[in-house]
Order: sequence, then C-alpha cells, then structure tokens
Amino acid sequence: MKKIFISADLEGCTGVTAWCETEIGQPGYQEARKQMSLEVAAACRAAMAAGYEVVVKDSHDSGRNIDANLLPHGVQLIRGWMNSPLSMMGGLDESYAGAMYIGYHSPAGSNESPLAHTMDATKFNWLKINGQIASEFDMHALLADEMGVPSLFLSGDKGICQRAEGVYPGIKTFATKEGIGGATWNLHPEESIERIEKAVGEALQNPAQVRPLAESYTLVIYFKNHRDARSASWYPGAELLDEFTVSYTASTPFELATARMFMTN
Ligand SMILES: [Zn+2]
Repeated sequence: MKKIFISADLEGCTGVTAWCETEIGQPGYQEARKQMSLEVAAACRAAMAAGYEVVVKDSHDSGRNIDANLLPHGVQLIRGWMNSPLSMMGGLDESYAGAMYIGYHSPAGSNESPLAHTMDATKFNWLKINGQIASEFDMHALLADEMGVPSLFLSGDKGICQRAEGVYPGIKTFATKEGIGGATWNLHPEESIERIEKAVGEALQNPAQVRPLAESYTLVIYFKNHRDARSASWYPGAELLDEFTVSYTASTPFELATARMFMTN
C-alpha cells in the first residue's frame, strides 16, 4: 500500500501564540496539543480517503504531544525521538510516496511568527543553508529529497507557507494563522481543521514531484553565545567564521543533518 509520512509540530497550529502554550504542564498546553492532534487527524483522514497508509511522527519538543485517540483508526504514531540525524523525519525511508508537514512555523531570523525559531529556540539567531535562512521545513524536506520522497503539503503560519512555496515547486500549503509581532491572527480552529482536510485531498490529486538535489550544502549557524560557536567549530570540517558564526559544507542532505546534529548539540 502507498504510504504518506506526516511530520507534526505544534508552533504552527491554529491559535498557538506563546511559548508556555507549547510546553507540557504550562497554561494553554492542553488546548494546543488538542488542536495539533485534530489538525494532524484531518490530514490523516484525507490521505486515508485517497488510499494511503499514514505514519505520523510527533516532532515537537518531547515528541509526546499528539493524543493518539484523536487520530483515525489505522494511523501509526511515532512518539519520542530516535536520536538520529533524521530528527523530525525519524522513521522516513525510501518506501514513502510523499511527506507532509503539519503545524510548521517560521524560522529563526524571521519576524513572521511570535514563535519563530529553527530547532533550538534559545541557541541561534539563525541558520542558513546555501545563503538562505533555513526553517525546520528546509532542513527536513532536504532529507526527504535525498530519499526520493516528494514534499506534498505543509500547514502552519503564513510565513512558513510562503517560504515553502518559494523553495519547493508544486507543494500545496494552508495557512492556519498569520504572525504579527507578538500576536497571531487566527482562523477558527474548526475551520482550519476542515480546510486542512480539503487541502490535503487536493494536494494528493496532483502531487508535487521530488526536488533535485544541489551540488553541495553549506550550513552557516549564527549562535547567540560565542561559547556555543567555539564548541561547534570542533566538528571535523567545520570552520569558525567569527566569534559567533560557524560554517560547514556537506555534499549530501544527510551529511548536512549529521553535522547540524553534532554542531548544535
Ligand atoms: Zn515545535
């Protein structure tokens, strides 16, 4: 059976606006994880209706956010972390017909979400890949590219939707909200859920093709703390560009992701 892989994050889900809402045990977290679960469930329903088997990777923080009881019967859920360079795509391999991204968010170095960040929200001002600000989508879609798996759909804030459409030909997106300064301007949560289901169905009718690989991938990380930059510079092949900035050039996305994993640990 054809399979779809869904990587799910929380910061780009409808309504989510403040860091406390993204952390287990903090005010607003229960509402946020419920909305994340329902947005993922909507994507699952659409993929299953189109004849796909679905595997979901819970990729926010602990990796233990989605309420499995809110997902359709038959969906497989990966919880926690596999401790591999695949990171938010842990579990993906060449056997999948497509990858989707739910609840994704604008990157570190952008002003498009109050929760804009890339991976660790405290350590970097930004990461760039081949000169462009890199989002979590950018980093993980490359891994899917390398496996020959096309990225078909993304939902999240308006900023990440526009960025994904700008770099991935044919990807369909759906914006759950827009970030303005410290605010988010949201759709009604149920409307987002309905429209994600419809949009995923449309994405699967005319799926995007996998993107060709680049010759090489140069990662530049602008750390907030000079000590973290110095630590990262010891990764074999890495170069300290200035007190806060480290670069590494990889020949493949997996090599890039491996360097990122160790340099930002
Ligand atoms: Zn997250």
